[in-house]
Amino acid sequence: MSRLRHGGDAASPLVSPTSRALFERACRVIPGGVNSPVRAFGAVGADPLFMVSGRGAFLVDADGRDYVDLVCSWGPLILGHAHPSVVQAVHAAARTGMSFGTPTEAEILLAEEIAGRVEPVQRVRMVSSGTEATMTAVRLARGVTGRAKVVKFAGHYHGHSDGLLVAAGSGVATFGLPGTRGVTPGTAADTLVLPYNDETALRETFDRHGEAIACVITEAACGNMGVVPPAPGFTALIRRLTQQHGALMISDEVMTGFRVSPAGWYGLHREDGDPDLFTFGKVIGGGMPLAALGGRAQIMDQLAPGGPVYQAGTLSGNPVATAAGLATLLACTPEVYARVDTAAERLSGELSSALRHAGVPHLVQSAGSLFSVFFFRRRAPHAVLDYGTACTQDLAVHRAFFHAMLRAGVYLPPSAYEAWFLSEAHDEAVLDRVVEALPRAAAAAAAAGRKQA
Ligand SMILES: *Cc1c(COP(=O)(O)O)cnc(C)c1O
Repeated sequence: MSRLRHGGDAASPLVSPTSRALFERACRVIPGGVNSPVRAFGAVGADPLFMVSGRGAFLVDADGRDYVDLVCSWGPLILGHAHPSVVQAVHAAARTGMSFGTPTEAEILLAEEIAGRVEPVQRVRMVSSGTEATMTAVRLARGVTGRAKVVKFAGHYHGHSDGLLVAAGSGVATFGLPGTRGVTPGTAADTLVLPYNDETALRETFDRHGEAIACVITEAACGNMGVVPPAPGFTALIRRLTQQHGALMISDEVMTGFRVSPAGWYGLHREDGDPDLFTFGKVIGGGMPLAALGGRAQIMDQLAPGGPVYQAGTLSGNPVATAAGLATLLACTPEVYARVDTAAERLSGELSSALRHAGVPHLVQSAGSLFSVFFFRRRAPHAVLDYGTACTQDLAVHRAFFHAMLRAGVYLPPSAYEAWFLSEAHDEAVLDRVVEALPRAAAAAAAAGRKQA
């Protein structure tokens, strides 16, 4: 393992000649040089690292350096990189044909595995990305209810379909404005954006617009503004109000599903009630493009071809992706979840203690085995419950911490608004390496905070 890093300020970006040359080439043929914006390292003021291989808990970059990977492809790799049983399943599937455009038995096996783990799911429709899963779930909710409005929470991410890419509105029941160019005000107007964990806002919105609301879509526990779990009672309130007003509840478990427990966030909090629809992605594809929506038969059977709500996909349920997903879920035993939980507990504790030692105002928040850290300029709030508070974090301190960890061979999410992801492969020895890097990175964060004060 190479621990030799380039000299210079502890918090300055690494010098990576090969990645830099690749990025310059990429920018000439790919917009911004990347195929998904957060990969670009824009939030940490650097050029992205190009990776060439991954094994277990480690990534190797184009300049030959290795890193402990705490991104895990943004969640899917709960077994680590290139897990033997997943690789073998993919090889076996690819050898017998990449895609048939017909049904295959593997799709039944994966759907049965999902339905077997999440009780309210009787039917599963497979798609190729989380974006498609949430987009289809919303269309289905509108089709079933005959209503137009969708309630979402500020700071929750449900993929990049038009109606769900709406900026955080302030105040109660703000009619959303498009969060991006290219979404029409007409589309955005059907999305109501509320502050997360705000019971009053949710009640008032149902009082005022109850008859027009097709669904509430919520991340089961939010991992896309940093980790912000639902406050006690909030998810149950969504369930109650949607039921009372004839709207559907969509629990977006694309990030949490099959990651935080064998049955996702639902499996940890059944007392909150059963959502009408679930969306899954990330872990269920095991690193391949595969996602799904699921729910009770009565609702799901409204999808085409049996029902009137159209949805389709040339590569949906692709045999190679399905094989990767099935092999991943089959290897995700209770022991794996226990191991990831233990690793998350240790690392989040060590992280917090290193930052406390260095005097860095911060909050570490968890949702099952997902966690993230918020850095603050001065005193940390008691908790981050919503996007407004998440946005008060100090990005310059995060940037210094990020680069110091990267120099020490730890690859963190290159954004202050993302969760840290662990895998079965993050054993004690791997975590030791991360823990060793924490004091210097905490000192770099403290220095960055002082510089601005
Ligand atoms: C990642 C994510 C999505 C989008 O999934 P893609 O496969 O990137 O389209 C949707 N919802 C949540 C909660 C996510 O974390």
